Amino acid sequence: MEDKKPPAETITFLGTAGARIMVANQILASGGLWLNLSGTEILLDPGPGTIVQATKRKLRAEKLSAIILSHRHLDHSADTNIMVEAMTQGGFKRHGWLFAPADALGSEPVIFSYLRDYLEGVEVLQEGKAYSVGNVSFTTPVRHIHQVETYGILFRTSGHTFSYIADSRYFDGLCKSYSGELLIINVVRLEANHPFDHLSVPDAENIIKELKPKVAILTHFGRTVWRAKPWEIAQGLSEKTGSRVIAARDGMKFDLAQLDSN
Ligand SMILES: [Zn+2]
Repeated sequence: MEDKKPPAETITFLGTAGARIMVANQILASGGLWLNLSGTEILLDPGPGTIVQATKRKLRAEKLSAIILSHRHLDHSADTNIMVEAMTQGGFKRHGWLFAPADALGSEPVIFSYLRDYLEGVEVLQEGKAYSVGNVSFTTPVRHIHQVETYGILFRTSGHTFSYIADSRYFDGLCKSYSGELLIINVVRLEANHPFDHLSVPDAENIIKELKPKVAILTHFGRTVWRAKPWEIAQGLSEKTGSRVIAARDGMKFDLAQLDSN
């Protein structure tokens, strides 16, 4: 009898740092997320050091089908150019797609013009639109409230659905735009009373209670969250929300098969 295991779907956290101080000092790494969804590999938000974090873990850029940027801030986009060069083997193999909001590609683009020609194409992310890469489809349901044009992403694979809730101030339409068995939430701030366009731990609690995912993963930690120990925050949120809440760690590989047990 042949063992018919479904192909693996994994998310590797190449960094968990959020915002300027954590990233500038590399208190945590800032390499974004590397998705391997039944063989379709996608890099999400390649912040500073992605090339180092990826090669160190033997993730091979030439296997990527796409690079997706939620927005143009440096902690989400700084390694775009080198990752495009690596994905296309220095431009010798024209290959792969870049997805980004219009303001990341406009008058001050995050990608050099000579590198654009190495790609199969560039697609502009827009509110409410759907896209596909290999056997993965995704949507950018709502424009976030952030200093620059920003979208979160709802992914659908043959086996799973999950959401990546990128940087945003909390707003009423945020929850209803996302769903899935798994939520990945960028939680920069510890307290809700701050002037920044970022989600806080109380915001994450509300989102998890509202959407009731099987698993929620907190990441993109600012200094206040880091000092409060994300793993303890996650434990507290698990108790308060009834969902399993995990604090991401640099290098953590989450297997989506974990969503299938019970
Ligand atoms: Zn940002």
